[in-house]
Amino acid sequence: MPRPIEALIHTDALAHNLARARALAPNARLWAVVKANAYGHGIERAFEGLRAADGFALLDLAEAERLRALDWRGPILLLEGVFEPRDLELCSRLKLWHAVHCEQQIDWLAMHKTHEPHRVFLKLNSGMNRLGFTPAAFRAAYARLDALPQVDEIGLMTHFSDADALRLGQDGIAHQLAAFEAATDGLAGERTIANSAATLRHATRTANDWVRAGIMTYGGVPDFPEHDATHWDLRPAMTLRSKIIGVQQLQPGDTVGYGSAFTAEQPMRIGIVACGYADGYPRHAGTGTPVLVDGHRTRTLGRVSMDMLAVDLTALPASGWGSEVTLWGEGPTVDGKPSRLPIDEVAQAAGTIGYELMCAVAPRVPVRTAGHG
Ligand SMILES: *Cc1c(COP(=O)(O)O)cnc(C)c1O
Repeated sequence: MPRPIEALIHTDALAHNLARARALAPNARLWAVVKANAYGHGIERAFEGLRAADGFALLDLAEAERLRALDWRGPILLLEGVFEPRDLELCSRLKLWHAVHCEQQIDWLAMHKTHEPHRVFLKLNSGMNRLGFTPAAFRAAYARLDALPQVDEIGLMTHFSDADALRLGQDGIAHQLAAFEAATDGLAGERTIANSAATLRHATRTANDWVRAGIMTYGGVPDFPEHDATHWDLRPAMTLRSKIIGVQQLQPGDTVGYGSAFTAEQPMRIGIVACGYADGYPRHAGTGTPVLVDGHRTRTLGRVSMDMLAVDLTALPASGWGSEVTLWGEGPTVDGKPSRLPIDEVAQAAGTIGYELMCAVAPRVPVRTAGHG
């Protein structure tokens, strides 16, 4: 028998969350961001729930090929553009739209032989200082692209560093929004600037021609803990669950796991769960990380090991060997009510973000599609 751990992908939740982005930005077209294998959900599985998107945005050319293999004929955008000149051949063949963020990419386009001119998005570095042309260089780059027979339409894009929070007492986007508006003033082309956080918090100012919805599509909250998934009406698209495969009784002074990181102060009952850091569960989640056992909230105890972790069953006398454990996502129904553990809470306890946990589910964890529930 395989280990009892599995990841469930809720395609109905993906569709619901995508509809939430649509409702917030009703006049924009929607890129579903499916980079990093759809944030760990699997491109093919996620596609089932995200068919209503107007386009798919990602980074990896192999992932773009997988989408075309699913017979997706609509727009696909390479968010970082091409990495070497011959990538442009694949862009021509698969009709991929691509970001252009540096002079080298324009040089390669100028040398590229194609019958079909490309659709590109010229990226502005409006202050994040990762990719993109500076405001001073932006118009010259636009003019260069505009003069190329290899280029059809030029879109305009930028990316926010602080759309999820305040920055220097401001709303987090004002300085970059102003930089974008100044740099693109009067230039023709479709605009795309909003990620999930901007769509959730600032749609009226950022939802222009296209929005790029990533984490919210998967039910993760970019501005947790200021807001949670209930506040934004987002549903978890992934459940990680396993079972209790061992039970121990502890006396005061007994310890749990490597490094004896947890010591019992009173008699306790604990369960050992078939889930560890080799499954993608965060090793930095210390004692007290929330977890559901048979749908009831309890806590982890001691260090997470490679294949196991411990949970407190002291207050759950009905649970024990074989009980279902929800590490995050949708739990079983309890007294007629569904149970749920937001991935954001687990991430916070581990000093990270929901994005990282989703992307880190290990290849050894079997994945199943769960349409409903
Ligand atoms: C990943 C990414 C997004 C999506 O960000 P979320 O915070 O997940 O919504 C949008 N735009 C670009 C350029 C990205 O790289």
